[in-house]
Amino acid sequence: MTFTVAIDGPAAAGKGTISKAVAAHFGFAHLDTGLLYRAVGVKVIAGQSPIDAAQTLDPSDLEDDSLRTATVAQAASEVAVIPEVRAALVDFQRTFAARDGGAVLDGRDIGTVICPDADVKLFVTASAACRAERRYKELAGKGHDVTPAGVLADVQERDKRDSERAAAPMVAAENATLIDTSDMSVEQAIAAAISAVDTARHN
Ligand code: C5P
Repeated sequence: MTFTVAIDGPAAAGKGTISKAVAAHFGFAHLDTGLLYRAVGVKVIAGQSPIDAAQTLDPSDLEDDSLRTATVAQAASEVAVIPEVRAALVDFQRTFAARDGGAVLDGRDIGTVICPDADVKLFVTASAACRAERRYKELAGKGHDVTPAGVLADVQERDKRDSERAAAPMVAAENATLIDTSDMSVEQAIAAAISAVDTARHN
């Protein structure tokens, strides 16, 4: 059985938490596609060319400890504007989406470009202020050297670059269910996502 759940949305809207919870609830595999772009970003910081880095990416590169830093997030959104980088990562994502047993993929262009025929499409969003506050707490809690203003600027800069780029810009698919988590608890957001998936499974 294949069943694909596409979850898109801006940085720090809660996609990761929701995706993991949906995958665990239904027993599906989960791929955080941001890690692919982050892994390319890490290699570019180390001196490799973006296209070469994307074309030679190995699944083991997704385990690098530095993937979650703000510097790597910026590098990821810079390489993500390059069409050849995006093209090099398509097959890996589509193969993952088609795996037997069901898959959840979260990113920016899953419902629009990678899996336009996904069984369920969610677009998870929240105000920039909410997202920046959550991301600040998460990074500061892990001991990263960040300030609230710096995190807000980072989130806004990435939103702008991700939604204005020509190649696969971040946009909600026409048939996506919108979940605005600004005023939701984590539990409420997860429940809304599970309910949308349940509805699609029974149709
Ligand atoms: O989701 P995450 O914050 O880890 O993604 C890092 C960057 O990778 C994003 O800002 C975006 O530029 C890029 N990305 C993308 N398409 C995806 C996932 C991530 O362009 N499907």
